Order: sequence, then structure tokens, then C-alpha cells
Amino acid sequence: MKIAVLKEMAPGESRVAAIPETVKKFASLGADVAVERGAGADAIISDSDYEAAGAKTGSREEVLSGAGIILVVQPPDATSLKGAQDGALLVGALDPAKRGEAISQYAAAGLEALAMEWMPRITRAQSMDILSSQSNLAGYKAVVDAAAVYGRAFPMMMTAAGTVSPAKVFVMGVGVAGLQAIATAKRLGAQVSATDVRSATKEQIQSLGAKPIFVENIAGIEGEGAGGYATEMSEEYQKAQAELVSGHIAKQDIVITTALIPGRPAPRLISYAQVATMRPGSVIVDMAAEAGGNVEGTVAGERVQKHGVSIIGATNLARTLPADASALFARNLYNFLSAFWDKEQGRPVLPDDDEIVKGIRLTQGGKVVHERLTAAT
Ligand code: NAD
Repeated sequence: MKIAVLKEMAPGESRVAAIPETVKKFASLGADVAVERGAGADAIISDSDYEAAGAKTGSREEVLSGAGIILVVQPPDATSLKGAQDGALLVGALDPAKRGEAISQYAAAGLEALAMEWMPRITRAQSMDILSSQSNLAGYKAVVDAAAVYGRAFPMMMTAAGTVSPAKVFVMGVGVAGLQAIATAKRLGAQVSATDVRSATKEQIQSLGAKPIFVENIAGIEGEGAGGYATEMSEEYQKAQAELVSGHIAKQDIVITTALIPGRPAPRLISYAQVATMRPGSVIVDMAAEAGGNVEGTVAGERVQKHGVSIIGATNLARTLPADASALFARNLYNFLSAFWDKEQGRPVLPDDDEIVKGIRLTQGGKVVHERLTAAT
């Protein structure tokens, strides 16, 4: 089995889908790994690092020739994948929700496309979950970026010249990114509070030493709901949440928003009027910018000023930590492929009735097969 690791072509993409460690592990499963020249450059992995781990390096054409598995971070054009085996697995973050056309082209090219972002959130698949691994790093980076823009310090400092007060950080949305944002802000010495609609997060917030700020009297989402995800809340809840936030946000220096609802625009959590109550120099990082933003006035990919407050429309934060983001992403791919590896056949075998396979397989045998995509056409 030949595994091709491609150099990413999307502008701004700095990650790579394999690292020397996973190359070695694939080799010990009996696979030959071929890495496109320069694929790891932005992630600080040289061609000779890959070669030392047992990979061959070469041109895209050489790497793809005869490959049975193609590893990518972002979805490549089907036309750039010529030379692979018929039925080769294309594994990466293929963005199926937005790229229906490209997925049909993978099918037409005879590729079996596997979208890692549709990995079901079940215990068995935790180590394969690219959304979690990348969100974790993004949550950390959001706080670091906020600290870089904030004109004051995070920790309390008692100096001969007087006392520096600690920053107050409020995290809205306590999923994977939010939890890491809380932990990072705490490590930097801030006073941290956080909110979510899922009541299970209250204990998680407390266990990180932060203060939970929750709507009382109106029930949020109990238990694990739809796979642990939030849904849109009732108008009554939204009103109570807006009141709660208004009272709290005026006293905050940094707000990190991460709230997302799968398949829907991001919930609006902060209005201009609420931004206006914050002290000038405060910083908001809106991690939901690409999904429409949690904050009124957010511009994805930009930093704007409203009422003296900086609002950062954060996008692709994991990419700004290419070495760690690549390492975690590459391990997610290895953990998935190795879990299905059949030693005798020397390749992964993906059973049709497996929950993971059903979750991520988009195309097979020249057709688009995923029910979320076939139902849409
Ligand atoms: P997400 O990115 O979908 O959303 C971020 C957070 O925003 C969530 O906690 C959500 O409840 C919250 N949110 C949504 N609407 C909100 C609102 N109006 N106000 C405040 N907060 C709001 O979430 P995620 O990081 O993908 O995590 C979702 C869940 O999945 C969590 O329970 C997480 O522990 C779980 N999870 C499970 C696995 C696994 O078992 N394999 C892996 C990763 C995550």
C-alpha cells in the first residue's frame, strides 16, 4: 500500500497531513509513504526529516503514482490527483457541506473520499477527531491573540511602582475551544468566567477554576442533547441570556466567543449596545466569525474597532500554529486508518455498516454515497 502525502495548495494553509512520527507508524503497518517535496516546510518539517523517517519524497506526480491512500489537510482539486489507484482513499478535511461540486468530482475520478470533519463524536473516535484537535489549539491561540492586542497585562502584578490589576476574561461557549480558552486565560493569570447553554459545562468551568455565569430559572440543554451539540434556544431563553450578558459584559476586559450550532448560523450573543458598555481598550475575539459571528459587527478575518473595543473576527486559528496543528491532525488521520488496518491485506478495510465509516464516507464506486449529500440533491 502506497500512501501519498500532498503539499497543500490552498492559500494560507500551513499544515501538512503527516509528520515523521506518523510516517514511521504507517511504515510499521507495512505501508510505503511518499511525501510531496516541500509539503512540511511551513510546519517546520524538512524533506530530509520525512526521508529519515522512511518516506520517499518527490514531485506531486511521483508521489501520487500508484497511491492507494492520499492524505490531505484541505480539499484538493480532483484534477490535481491524477495517477492514484482506482478507488484510492482521499482522507482529510474535505468540507463536504460547502463543496458538493468538488465531492462529485472525486466520485467521477474514482476516489473514495473520507471527510474527517464528519467523524462521529463517539468515544471510539475521539482520537480521530480533527475538529477537537484543531479547536483545542484555536481556543489557546484566541486568548494569546487577545493578550497581544490588549494594552494591559493579564496577571495581577504587585510592583514597587504600584499594582497592575488582573484582566477579566469571559468565555462564551464552552465546547472544546472554550475549555482551552478558559484554561489558557487562567494560566496567564486572568480572572475567568464562562457561560454556555449546556448545563453539563457548569462543572467543567468550575473544575478549571473559572466562574460559571448561567441563566437561572429557564432550563438550558440538559444531558448530551444531539451528540453533545447545542441547538437554537427559545426566545425566552435568548432574552434571559441577553440580560445576563448585559449585566456581566460591562465589567469584562476580554471576551472570547466560541458558540456554534451545527448546520445553523452562529447565535448572536453580543450586540453593539453591549459592546458600547465595555471599557475602551477591551478586546473581543469572535471564534464563530466564519459562521456569521457571535458578535454584532464581526468581520471574518479582520480586526475592527467599535466604541474603542477591538473585535477580532478569528478564522483558521489552528493554522497559525502549523507545527502542533499538523502533528495533531496527522495523528488523527493515523489513528483512524490504523484502527481499520487489516494486517493480512496490508490496507485499511472499511466496513459499510461501521458507524465511523457511515459518518465520513462521501464517495465510493464512482458515486456520491453519503446520505447527507444524496438527500440534498
Ligand atoms: P461547538 O463548536 O459546536 O460549540 C461551541 C460551544 O458553544 C458548545 O459548548 C455549545 O453548547 C455552545 N453554544 C451554542 N449556542 C450557544 C449559546 N446560544 N450561548 C452560549 N453557548 C452556546 O462545540 P464543540 O467544541 O464541538 O463541542 C460540542 C460537544 O461535543 C461538547 O460536549 C464536547 O465535549 C463534545 N465532544 C465530544 C467528542 C467525542 O466524544 N468524540 C469530541 C469532541 C467534542
